[in-house]
Amino acid sequence: MIASLAMATGAGASEGQQQDPAPAGDVVVYLLDHQYLPTDELTTIQAEINRIFSDAGVRITWVSNASPRRRLSPNELRIIVLPSDGTRWFQGPSNIIGIAPHDDTGIGRNCFVFYRQAIWFRQQAVWRCRQAIEARIKASMRGVEVDPYIDSLAPADCGDRLPSLTALIVARAAAHEMVHILLSKLDHADEGLMRRAFDINELWAGGSEGGPFRLTDPEITALRSFSTSTTGGSR
Ligand SMILES: [Zn+2]
Repeated sequence: MIASLAMATGAGASEGQQQDPAPAGDVVVYLLDHQYLPTDELTTIQAEINRIFSDAGVRITWVSNASPRRRLSPNELRIIVLPSDGTRWFQGPSNIIGIAPHDDTGIGRNCFVFYRQAIWFRQQAVWRCRQAIEARIKASMRGVEVDPYIDSLAPADCGDRLPSLTALIVARAAAHEMVHILLSKLDHADEGLMRRAFDINELWAGGSEGGPFRLTDPEITALRSFSTSTTGGSR
């Protein structure tokens, strides 16, 4: 599950007034990786986020492990990947992968992703995949049809999908929070990327499919302003 919580923001407090022109790009993401992610995971995360936003024609410029000490523009934000499971951050449900803190002045420009929660989700998928593989082998040996319940647990190629799953979970959680930030949007949609929560079954969708994680038409329309306005312009 993913949520944007009403948290008083304590992070990102020191934003001085330093002249530091934003890099070119429709949207600039400063990615602060406190998890020390392997390169292939970082590549998968960025590719999936790029893909989601490309539906709106938005091109993302990535800046790794650097963040300007100034107030970020409307087309800039930070993604901060934390090794934590997030439970120290808030009371209540501990199944939240990403948050975009906001206060009375609005939504900040920081998206926090709790890597250990993404791993927890992946572990659920591993369990489902193992159950499904064993059940399919047994059914095959007995010469019987596979119970439809097994297909609902995990697709037949689940084993091939596990290696990239954690990164895809992180990417989709981050992309969800990015939309909150870029559109100053607090509410959720009934479908697509901006639903209040994702189901574990949906996470099997590959990076090239992404059906359950699409932007809706109103979100695409709103996000297109980033690809048509000049970089760093105000909205
Ligand atoms: Zn949300």
